[in-house]
Amino acid sequence: MRPSPSGVSILSGRNRYTPKVQFPQQPFVGCADDISSGSCETAALFRSSALSWYDGRLDAGLQYAASAVGVRCEDGHEFCELAPLWHVALLTKAREVEAGWRMINSLETRGGEPESQVMTATSHVIRGELLFAMGCVDEGLAEVEAGLRVAERCGARSLLPTGYVVMALGALRRADMRSCLHYVDKLTGEALLGYFGQAAGAWVTAQAAEARGGVDRAAGLIAGIVANPAVLRQLLVSEPAAASWLVRSCGKLGAHDLAKTAAAAASAASAAQPRFAVVRASALHAAGLLEDDSGKLLEAANLYPDLWCGASAREDLAGLLSARRSERNNAIRILESALGGYTAVGATRDASRVVNKLREFGVRRGAIRAVERDGQLPHGLTNTEFAVAELVSQGHTNNEVGRQLFISRHTVAFHLKKVYQKMSVASRVELAATWKAMQWSVGRKTVEG
Ligand SMILES: [Zn+2]
Repeated sequence: MRPSPSGVSILSGRNRYTPKVQFPQQPFVGCADDISSGSCETAALFRSSALSWYDGRLDAGLQYAASAVGVRCEDGHEFCELAPLWHVALLTKAREVEAGWRMINSLETRGGEPESQVMTATSHVIRGELLFAMGCVDEGLAEVEAGLRVAERCGARSLLPTGYVVMALGALRRADMRSCLHYVDKLTGEALLGYFGQAAGAWVTAQAAEARGGVDRAAGLIAGIVANPAVLRQLLVSEPAAASWLVRSCGKLGAHDLAKTAAAAASAASAAQPRFAVVRASALHAAGLLEDDSGKLLEAANLYPDLWCGASAREDLAGLLSARRSERNNAIRILESALGGYTAVGATRDASRVVNKLREFGVRRGAIRAVERDGQLPHGLTNTEFAVAELVSQGHTNNEVGRQLFISRHTVAFHLKKVYQKMSVASRVELAATWKAMQWSVGRKTVEG
């Protein structure tokens, strides 16, 4: 591990938070006192489970969690009642989704005493996270949103970041930049206080920064994640798409040392806990990208128990094959399979990117329709129009906007014309001024409402 990032300039000030400074040394910032004191056997096992996962050990984390569930808390700690849900959360991270699904449903049929608000909120968020990982995106996001509403009301702070990460990632994948930034803002607010499980929050924030302003804009955050071994270890057992994203992004930045560090950490995580197909797939995906190894990318694609990740590995594999003329038809077939995977999980943004790649091969697919949400955007803008308007008001050209949204510059011009009409503005300058004036009233309505 390198002590500091190299080969990349840290754009200090452009990223609003740096995990290097704020990553808490102990994981229980913002959590109930019960877990910190370990005042009963359940709490002690729960604590060991959380610490193991925090240190990148999903295997030990799951063992301790199962033990915590098996021991009955005699002291009536509210916190100890959450142990089964924590177990489900770890099963989700391990993508052992069938076991997680059985477990969460058995909890809900148990019945009995009315549950606390914290319990209700946690149950919604954990169930939503699981559904999201299973590819039931709409149901998952709706559950998480419902859980967050309760959590924000009853002050269950330690739960918020988990929910915000799912909401931001879901929004990003369906090209709903407005919601994505709304949740990233909320994550940033939590980050200033330090929170449990910050690695995933830093990663989704970096993705949002890249989607908004290109990979350079995320450089500081990427370097911060990769250069911190603890953050990286935790991220690699939390988000299966993270390792490949980091290697790809570091590649774009020309930061090959960082790309190597990320791939090596993924490989170490996989070697240390070979039981998890998702961790192995993620390590193979990262290594395949780093080494231009189509065999590893194919193995990763077939091994991933996560639809989005499988599609992502296929997209990268097709990218590698498309460099060889003889593999053209193969590359097209694999891209079409990736497109199917992204579409199945409502990942509009990723699907549009693949449609563009297919177009480069002369294969035309109908434009992917963004998942539009009615009645929430200012001036009646669609999600795509909102994204275009935001990027244009940041000073990007139509070409740049098109590259970021994976649409042609002609399509950007078409959407921009609609934006002008709906917002009654006549120029980019006017749009930027109007946008700036309204940006603080936008994005704060969805969750509270
Ligand atoms: Zn207890």
